[in-house]
Amino acid sequence: MAQLSDDCFAFGGELMAVDRALSLLAERIGPVTGTERAGLGDALGRILAEEVVAPFDVPPHDNSAVDGYAVFFDDLDPAGDTRLPVTARVPAGRALGRPGRRGEAVRIFTGAPMPEGFDTVLMQEDCRTDGGDVLIPAGIKRGANRRKAGEDIREGQVILTSGRRLRPEDIGLLASIGRTALELRRPLRAAVFSTGDEVREPGAPLEPGCIYDANRYVLISALRQLGCAVTDLGILPDRVEDVRAALASASRDHDVLVTSGGVSTGEEDHVKGAVEAEGALHFWRLAIKPGRPVALGRVGTAALIGLPGNPVAVLVTFQRVARPILLRLMGAAADEPPLFPVRAEFAYKKKAGRREYVRVRLSRGADGGLTAVKHPREGAGILSSMVESDGLVELPEELTRVEPGMTVQFLPFSEVR
Ligand code: AMP
Ligand code: MG
Repeated sequence: MAQLSDDCFAFGGELMAVDRALSLLAERIGPVTGTERAGLGDALGRILAEEVVAPFDVPPHDNSAVDGYAVFFDDLDPAGDTRLPVTARVPAGRALGRPGRRGEAVRIFTGAPMPEGFDTVLMQEDCRTDGGDVLIPAGIKRGANRRKAGEDIREGQVILTSGRRLRPEDIGLLASIGRTALELRRPLRAAVFSTGDEVREPGAPLEPGCIYDANRYVLISALRQLGCAVTDLGILPDRVEDVRAALASASRDHDVLVTSGGVSTGEEDHVKGAVEAEGALHFWRLAIKPGRPVALGRVGTAALIGLPGNPVAVLVTFQRVARPILLRLMGAAADEPPLFPVRAEFAYKKKAGRREYVRVRLSRGADGGLTAVKHPREGAGILSSMVESDGLVELPEELTRVEPGMTVQFLPFSEVR
């Protein structure tokens, strides 16, 4: 007797574990983009394609960490106030031009080079002045408030390695060693399609039975955020000839093609067939929910990432499957986003053998720890549930149930941008 299924994931055939698919791909995929020279101002978010070695120490000179008085520690009375004449003034950007002398104090400002010999700086707030003298209380430590040359970066040190996705602090570090230009990976050229006869462009009339295209806007935005040069190739109808022609044409001038919809086994799902006809399909069913049908393959020389149609599945598979592939293609060093242990505030049942992602919002528990509150709506089409969540709880393949109070692994959306 035939049995009706209420689980759209329950159908036969081998499912591939997410990690296995990713490690297989990791062996096959390397950077596809060449390199180019770019200015420091254009480097944010780009992938560094060189190893950067510091040509000198940063800071280049010992300097004062505060506004105050530079002295010889050995001139200070360990038991009471010390009176020293203030003989010179060294603002930032100037040098005293001579070594410090025993028995004197020099007025010095934050960042100003320490005159040779002096080893300690008193904060001005801790001292009193009297005419041309400074009165220094006991109790300061030798070497206080003195920043050493090279304490940030040593000459010859590798400060950034090839494959780094450059962050604002990286750009600052490069500036601090005087760099103006860098060798970077050329941006990955990505083409994005939606598929589906029901899918309409926002702004166009919405005929009965149709929906507006959310996925393409999700994907274009997510790809841009990763630093890809994105071409928007619109919406494809559910016709295998059209899908084939569009994929073949886009494969000629893109590094990667990203589609959504049309990758299930239905009669109206033509991405899989089109990829088989125009290129090669590596795998197309992953043990992941939401998401399962994910097509990974190649069309011409372009990589093909065929994501599911439901918007939540698009986002989850983009973050967990497409993103690591794209980063590899871009030449980025492997970057596994960290998962954070939090307490589940929900009960949940799942099938063994597939990885599931639960949309959650974080809340502060009574003990001050973070708890994960499950979004009340679970459907893979409920895009607002993503908007109302902070991230995903990742439930591993072997797990079958979550009980409230259990520790689960939380992936913030901010870690997969
Ligand atoms: P499919 O995998 O093509 O059967 O699509 C699965 C579900 O996702 C269907 O309900 C589609 O209408 C929906 N869907 C497909 N493409 C999009 C899109 N671009 N934006 C929003 N929903 C979509
Ligand atoms: Mg469809």
